[in-house]
Amino acid sequence: MGAAQTKTKTLEWEEARSLVLSEVLKALQAPATEIVSLEAAYGRVLAKDIQADRDYPALDRSLRDGFAIHANESPGKLRVLGELRAGENQSTPLPLGHALEIMTGAPVPAGADAVVMVEHVERDGDRVTIPQHAVSGQFINRHGTEAQAGSTLVPAGTRLDASHIATLAMTGNVDVPVFVQPSVAILSTGDELVEASAVPGPHQIRNSNSYSLAALVAAAGGKPSIQAVARDTEAELTRALERGMEHDLLLISGGVSAGKYDLVKPCLKKLGTNFVFERVRIQPGQPTAFGKAGGKFVFGLPGNPGSSMVTFQLFARTALQLLAGVKDPILPVFRAVFDAPFKHKLGLTRFLPAFLNGQGGLTHIPWQGSSDIPAFARANVFLIADADRESWNAGDSIRVMLKP
Ligand code: AMP
Ligand code: MG
Repeated sequence: MGAAQTKTKTLEWEEARSLVLSEVLKALQAPATEIVSLEAAYGRVLAKDIQADRDYPALDRSLRDGFAIHANESPGKLRVLGELRAGENQSTPLPLGHALEIMTGAPVPAGADAVVMVEHVERDGDRVTIPQHAVSGQFINRHGTEAQAGSTLVPAGTRLDASHIATLAMTGNVDVPVFVQPSVAILSTGDELVEASAVPGPHQIRNSNSYSLAALVAAAGGKPSIQAVARDTEAELTRALERGMEHDLLLISGGVSAGKYDLVKPCLKKLGTNFVFERVRIQPGQPTAFGKAGGKFVFGLPGNPGSSMVTFQLFARTALQLLAGVKDPILPVFRAVFDAPFKHKLGLTRFLPAFLNGQGGLTHIPWQGSSDIPAFARANVFLIADADRESWNAGDSIRVMLKP
């Protein structure tokens, strides 16, 4: 890693993201595993394949409330044999000339090959008239059509969502093998920062990045560990960076630009960091740096709050997900259609605060730049304005990235 040409080149964000993927994949070791309860498994990454414990469905099941019949006896008038509810079992086959009243989810008796909806029959005492021809197989969920015993239903490396939780419960997996979450050090730097609980002087600001990054880390499946703010001195920064590298991943906020007191990169270099990239052609977030030191990956994210949020989402989240054991981390990008015209300056790909309304219409949120936290707080997506296109009309589509 750290080939000379990648060190100095400013990369497009897609190239930078692929480098994060390939570098982390190259170094990746399977994370440790642990067992958690089913109730605690949501959002965790599955460590072992989950298999079907039996065929699903385990027998032919009715998909409707109605009557199980022999399809070739319809249309016709049949004798009602009785009633079968979900949870009951019917062991005797359905005799010819008969129908069995059946509820959704109940087993279809042997011999019956169709269910006719209760709304489509005429019932008269122990007789039922089926006025229409029923097709063989209708409204029957056949044995084994959803899954066969032993087949893999959720592969290892899946971040568990609600449908995976349903699958685990369905198959009786109440003790869930998951990967241990990576520990992520979050180190904010800057002489101007005071604690979020303190009252800043006019020349100071509260440290918000440590908290927004911790939220992003937790949302991506990591365990955030907020470090004490490091002042912009070589000695203090170096100590803080060394401590940060004891974690699985180190995220640094601030101090990566070209200013006189932006000491993060020189300090990281002295600690042996090989940089994979140090600049990306985006706004916000141009000075984003990514490297590896002592076997640990490090991101230097620019300190402006908008920059650190966007660059976390674009780059650090991918690394974190891989370290968490996720097989195929995706970037949540899709297309949306502008409700109003939009313009930006050519030359940089911009990730800008935007609002996608309930009807699917997109509007750009005016902002004062990457320090404008209130503008980001009004947004629910970032629009992705490509570097080589200047304007969009209402009705034009554009890519947007979900804001976690
Ligand atoms: P830097 O990347 O260190 O040049 O920081 C750029 C700007 O981001 C600073 O001037 C601050 O206004 C802001 N900033 C830096 N760190 C933080 C932080 N932890 N929380 C909120 N804002 C920050
Ligand atoms: Mg700074």
